[in-house]
Amino acid sequence: MKYSYPILIFLLTANILAGLAFFGFKNSDAVIINFYDIGQGDGMMIEAGNNIQVIIDGGSTDKIVEKIGRDLPFYDRKIELVIMTHPDKDHLGGLVDVLKYYQVEQVLISGIKCETAICREWDKMIKEKNVPIKIARAGQTINLGGGAYLGILSPAEDLSGREIKNDNDASVVAKLITDNGSSVLFTGDAGFEIENELMAGNANLNSDILKASHHGSKYATSSEFLKSVSPETAVISSGKNSYGHPHEELISRIESYGAAIKRTDLEGDIKIEIEK
Ligand SMILES: [Zn+2]
Repeated sequence: MKYSYPILIFLLTANILAGLAFFGFKNSDAVIINFYDIGQGDGMMIEAGNNIQVIIDGGSTDKIVEKIGRDLPFYDRKIELVIMTHPDKDHLGGLVDVLKYYQVEQVLISGIKCETAICREWDKMIKEKNVPIKIARAGQTINLGGGAYLGILSPAEDLSGREIKNDNDASVVAKLITDNGSSVLFTGDAGFEIENELMAGNANLNSDILKASHHGSKYATSSEFLKSVSPETAVISSGKNSYGHPHEELISRIESYGAAIKRTDLEGDIKIEIEK
C-alpha cells in the first residue's frame, strides 16, 4: 500500500499523539483535581501540569497510593507538595504510605501537637526521608507554575507545637486559583467557628468548586458560608461511617443554595478539570 506525503504525515502525527496520550501526557491548559474514593476520609490530588502534583490528605489506608499510581505518568515518582490538613487518621493514614512510596519534596502542615500512633509513624517517616516541613499560615501563597497557585486561608496564626482541643478547626484551608479565574476551596474538616472567622476576615472565599468540609457533617458548611463561597459544585468525600456523614441537613442546605452535589460514596473517584 502506498500513502501520499500528507497522509503519511497525518498518520505519523496521529501516532505520536496517541503515544503521548498513552504515556500520560495530559491537557496542559487544565488543572485536574482528583477527589479519590478512599472510603471515609479525604484524599485528593491536584495535577497542575508540567508534572507538578499536590496531594491533599490521604484517607486512612494505603488505598491512595494505588490511585495516585494510576494517574501519575510512569516516569514521575515525585510529588511536589503534600498538604496534611490535620492529623486525624482519615486524612493522615494514607499519607504515611505516600511518603513511603513517593519522593515528596515538601509537606505543608498546621503542625499542632499530636502523639497518636499514626502521628508517630508520620514523624518517623518525615525524619527518615528528610522531607522539608512548612508550617501553614493564612496569607501564604504557593506557586504551582503555569498559571496556578494555592492561597492558604487558615490557620490564621502559627499553631505549631500547640495543643488544640478540636483539631478539625486547625485544618489547613487552601484555595486553588488559576490565571483564568477558576478556583477550588479545600476546607479539611474545619467547622462553623473557622467558617465564621474566614467570613469575618478579608479573604476572597468565592470559588467555583467547594470541597464540603468534614465529609458532609451538619456542623460545617453553613448557609452563610455557602453564600460567601457561592460554589457551582460542592464535592463531598465520605464512605462507610457511623457519624451519619454526609448529613441530610447539609445535603438540603446545599440543595437549597442551588449548587450541584458530587459524592465519592455514590460516584467513586471524581475528576474535575478547571481551565488555567
Ligand atoms: Zn475527617
